[in-house]
Amino acid sequence: MKIGVLGGTFDPIHVGHLVIAEEVRVRLGLSRVLFVPARISPLKLARPLTAAEDRLRMLELAVASNPYFQVSRLDVDRPGPSYSVDTLRELRSQIGTETQVFFIVGADALVDLPNWRQPRSIIELCQVVGVSRPGFEGFDPATLDPLIPGASRKILLLDVPEIGISASAIRARISLGLSIRYLVPEAVERYIYEHALYDTRTAAEG
Ligand code: ATP
Ligand code: MG
Repeated sequence: MKIGVLGGTFDPIHVGHLVIAEEVRVRLGLSRVLFVPARISPLKLARPLTAAEDRLRMLELAVASNPYFQVSRLDVDRPGPSYSVDTLRELRSQIGTETQVFFIVGADALVDLPNWRQPRSIIELCQVVGVSRPGFEGFDPATLDPLIPGASRKILLLDVPEIGISASAIRARISLGLSIRYLVPEAVERYIYEHALYDTRTAAEG
């Protein structure tokens, strides 16, 4: 069996995440893709994340209509910062040795791989799948090799439909009062407004 793993902060989940997961699933014939929201991101300590339960709830709403997509509490339920190497080890101990794990990372994250915890172990624990992301073109995996020996041989690069959206941009749009319609699934948009997430204007007025 082959499964995909997409980690991230998903603050919030948007169509960019859904498109890359679906594209990789179909192209590689994965039987499911796990969306694994981080509890705390070691790489994003500057800004406090939205409560994990809100991010999980939005993920659940976003993947509900896709039978191949699942949300995992693996990172949220593990104390401390969420290191991918720990996620992959824990997942491996749960699923056994037979299942192949494809760890999906956007080009922006791939560039940063040497700064992650134990990158050499990461590339041993899974098949890394690097996907294209607008603004991060022309990355040569060979540049990783001096820092992570053998990395370029172990990374599969896939060109996926390019969606120029980030969660940061969505948060910024909300705080500016701009529309996020079609950038996130409708149910996620509703959840964001019902729970007044990311609206720094209401916070400033209150
Ligand atoms: P933020 O702006 O808060 O960092 P983000 O949009 O980058 O949010 P993350 O949760 O950081 O979302 O991303 C999770 C994973 O999805 C990362 O591997 C990232 O590279 C990838 N990803 C997110 N958005 C896209 C996109 N539009 N195209 C390709 N990959 C993406
Ligand atoms: Mg990001």
